[in-house]
Amino acid sequence: MDYQAILDEIEAEIQPYLDEGKVADYIPALASVPQRQFAMTITLFNGTQYSVGLAEKLFSIQSISKVFTFTLALKFYSKSLYKRIGHEPSGNPFNSLVQLEYEHGKPRNPFINAGAIVITDALINHYKGVEETYEEVVNFIREVACDASITSDSVVANSEMQHGHRNLALANLMKSFGNLDNEVYDVVNTYFRHCALEMNTKTLSRSMLYLANHGIDPLCAKQFISPNQAKRINAVMLTCGHYDASGDFAFHVGLPGKSGVGGGIVALIPKLMGIAVFSPGLNAQGNSLVGTKALELFTSKTGLSIF
Ligand code: GLN
Repeated sequence: MDYQAILDEIEAEIQPYLDEGKVADYIPALASVPQRQFAMTITLFNGTQYSVGLAEKLFSIQSISKVFTFTLALKFYSKSLYKRIGHEPSGNPFNSLVQLEYEHGKPRNPFINAGAIVITDALINHYKGVEETYEEVVNFIREVACDASITSDSVVANSEMQHGHRNLALANLMKSFGNLDNEVYDVVNTYFRHCALEMNTKTLSRSMLYLANHGIDPLCAKQFISPNQAKRINAVMLTCGHYDASGDFAFHVGLPGKSGVGGGIVALIPKLMGIAVFSPGLNAQGNSLVGTKALELFTSKTGLSIF
């Protein structure tokens, strides 16, 4: 298959949509990101990459980081993790408080904000400290992305902390239900720091290979998690990776994927490739509008999806 020609076609076809959607302005440091940007990369199991657009351009990975923190928490806690979080789609916005109250502080899944905050709390317990946790999360992402230069943008992290009232509310609510062990500020701050990590579509697509290959990196043969755990993460990406638009993403794209409000989306085709797209204009559910479109075009043109 001529992947480069397909990516070139996609880049041409998404052009009319670049002004649609809206950048994430609830995080002031992200509000100034220019909207008319696009990048897409696929990474095959032999390491070959095909890209279009601004594939070297770093952007804030935001909620894509939740895939990596979920991986680590599952590795250390296995099934006992599900005492604290569920694995059902929420059908609600990523930062919703309502369901959390009804469900006694147990978040529906690890990809909504409440779930990711609980995961960060569990990692702080495991690594015994906030700094250690941040370092280990970054080290893990550097390893799966094969890029030792990945760092967090402290301006974005601080900006989120200053305006993080809703995430602090989610954490406080969970603390009141006994589902948060560490201090609210410490957990939320650590969560914001890993959300503020910067990557590009090349490194993000590379970082999905272990999930496309039963937990084993096909390039360095390292086993990051068990095949069973990789299966679970893929399932949660498919059913919960795009919040209340997860059904829509499965319907149009048909791949396990995870979005972030920085405009990135990662996806993967089992046994074949990792994919990443970037375009900062978001749809109403907070997922990259053009990124979703590009992935839909990719699975339609190639006939590759899990269905
Ligand atoms: N850091 C963002 C927040 O907590 C992540 C949200 C997202 O990417 N969907 O609001």
